[in-house]
Amino acid sequence: PIGLVDGRLVDLNENVVSMEDRGYQFGDGIYEVTRVYNGRCFALKQHMDRAYRSLRELRIPATYTFDELKSFHELLIKESGITEGAIYMQITRGVAPRAHGFPENVVPRLTMSIRPAAANTALKEGGAKGLFVPDERWLRCDIKSINLLGNILGKQRAKEAGCFEGLQVRGEYVTEGTSSNFFVIKDDVLWTHPAHPVSNLILKGITRTIIIEEILPSLGLTVVEKPFTPAFAKSADEAFISGTNSEIIPIISLDGAPVGSGQVGPITRKIQAAYEAIIDRECGR
Ligand code: PMP
Repeated sequence: PIGLVDGRLVDLNENVVSMEDRGYQFGDGIYEVTRVYNGRCFALKQHMDRAYRSLRELRIPATYTFDELKSFHELLIKESGITEGAIYMQITRGVAPRAHGFPENVVPRLTMSIRPAAANTALKEGGAKGLFVPDERWLRCDIKSINLLGNILGKQRAKEAGCFEGLQVRGEYVTEGTSSNFFVIKDDVLWTHPAHPVSNLILKGITRTIIIEEILPSLGLTVVEKPFTPAFAKSADEAFISGTNSEIIPIISLDGAPVGSGQVGPITRKIQAAYEAIIDRECGR
């Protein structure tokens, strides 16, 4: 397994992380995951723009240019020979003696790795089960920080109930999945929770943005970015989650009850097909 530390090639099994890295001790860092299809990065500019925003929000200095980050992604693809995969990129505030306040003159640390990505064919075709779980995260879910305790506890709760994804509920409203955004479709209208600058309670997913800005207009479908309740979701005709790794996975049951017919719905299928076409176009598949 192959990785990069500040642009330098390493073996992932090497001990490359310092004990006093602030990512390790405080979760003081940000990350991105970018998919590789046909040996090319998908939506890399959007992912790197979001990384820069996460850094700004956490006041971590951005010490790499887009062109550098792009070349590191390309280097990982070339060195690994992986054509269908996912690249993980993490930037922490850096290494310093442990103290809560920001250290002075510390240089952020960039670590990256590449892994093959399994095609989710069965889930994309047949759909998956969702479980509502409490959203126990902090209030800045708009930042893609490496603090993911709320997410992993929600995912594990769903897994233990035999479900693929935990759909998080804060107060009355459904926010998002533990590693995905969530859409429901009722009477031909798509609903999804608002993202920044309107709300800090979800991550503004790249896949979500592609669906809202590119796919839905091309299909002539209406979307509203408004919070909705679990009861509303359960009464929907169709539902799906979106994410870089998941792509678009239909949700065919919620808390054990079928969504709509309990089968993957026609609008979800059209959105999936449109997403595949965008990947084909961008990655030359
Ligand atoms: N929400 C959360 C909490 C996530 O972890 C992810 C996966 N990165 C998403 C949404 C989907 O975002 P994207 O489409 O950019 O992968």
